[in-house]
Amino acid sequence: MSSPASTLAVPSYLNADNLGPWGIYLQQVDRVIPYLGSLSRWADTLKRPKRALIVDVPIHLDNGTVAHFEGYRVQHNTSRGPGKGGVRFHQDVTLSEVMALSAWMSIKNAAVNVPYGGAKGGIRVDPRTLSMGELERITRRYTSEIGIIIGPTKDIPAPDVNTNAQIMAWMMDTYSMNEGATATGVVTGKPVDLGGSLGRQEATGRGVFTVGCEAAQRIGMDVSKARVAVQGFGNVGGIAGKLFAEAGARVVAVQDHGGTIFNGAGFDVPALLKHVAAHGSVAGFAGGEVIANENFWDVDCEILIPAALEGQLTAARANRVKAKLVIEGANGPTTPEADDILQERGVLVLPDVIANAGGVTVSYFEWVQDFSSFFWTEEEINNRLVRIMKEAFAAIWQVGQDKKVSLRTATFIMACTRILHARELRGLYP
Ligand code: GLU
Repeated sequence: MSSPASTLAVPSYLNADNLGPWGIYLQQVDRVIPYLGSLSRWADTLKRPKRALIVDVPIHLDNGTVAHFEGYRVQHNTSRGPGKGGVRFHQDVTLSEVMALSAWMSIKNAAVNVPYGGAKGGIRVDPRTLSMGELERITRRYTSEIGIIIGPTKDIPAPDVNTNAQIMAWMMDTYSMNEGATATGVVTGKPVDLGGSLGRQEATGRGVFTVGCEAAQRIGMDVSKARVAVQGFGNVGGIAGKLFAEAGARVVAVQDHGGTIFNGAGFDVPALLKHVAAHGSVAGFAGGEVIANENFWDVDCEILIPAALEGQLTAARANRVKAKLVIEGANGPTTPEADDILQERGVLVLPDVIANAGGVTVSYFEWVQDFSSFFWTEEEINNRLVRIMKEAFAAIWQVGQDKKVSLRTATFIMACTRILHARELRGLYP
């Protein structure tokens, strides 16, 4: 007699053995299962994506040849609503990474209580090697390929690493052409003139700043006197750095793909943002000195904001960090070992799944505005964003205090409880 399917070995792509991003996510889930009570019987739901699509994306290059790229769209969970999450274009994108990022979206969306599941997509390509025409063609063909599973009530993509409002405009147009009707609600992070929301572009950085200030207050840190080090100075790190500087903090170190710069007196952040906008990186900025990339982790500071890619804050680096507060602007920047080391060393880590949730929160506002075709002022959006972020942070802080767990585990407890409660209420079909 054959054994029931549930006793078969876990397929290799779901395995936690290799510590890629998906393995890290599985470890994070395992840590919360003991806190889920009777809902833990549904926990396996969290340990596999609901749906994963791999697509071939062939395009004509400008030189007349045809190139093939691999694209992905993963819907991790849809118990609380449609899939939601960004699309990244990066040469290192893998299925494991997109699976983990989609799962972190499920947790994030539940943590701030927006009515979405979690999803993520990506194309394995370095967009800096593409011309504008090639970028448009790869975006359109990818959108058409994943068109069978996305839609305003099914799964709503948004910008992520190396994607932006223009790419969202092409995605919206391609989906709409295939459907024969303009469907602005199929993506968020669009240009404001195409149904985008005011405040969306700054939303992730604003959320990082908002919860960062809440956390600082809880640990008795004066933000106006703090020194801040930021890794990644794009849409997330750049805006967060600007808001911290406006609050009186000194941004003393910035690292991006172009190198690392330091200024103990604090950078002129608006000037640095202008430089990055003009030159694509912090390299060559005159208002600071260049330091070795690895020395970024030793910089004297109170607040550290990793806002680039996954796996940056490793165990070795965690031992060197001087900051008392780490705010994860990126998704998955801290490895589980580093997490433990930081906790032992008394460094408070504000996890990605709450710290960078401001982006998807304003994506939700954008989607609601698209459905109602009624648009809000920037002030309304920022006020609602700040309220949601503060409330979510306060609830998570309380769980952390009550259960004596890290803020990451506290966020996972709250989010997984919401997801699995919805799962239980909906029941198993058929
Ligand atoms: N890519 C962003 C994130 O990781 C935003 C996703 C969205 O707005 O759907 O949270």
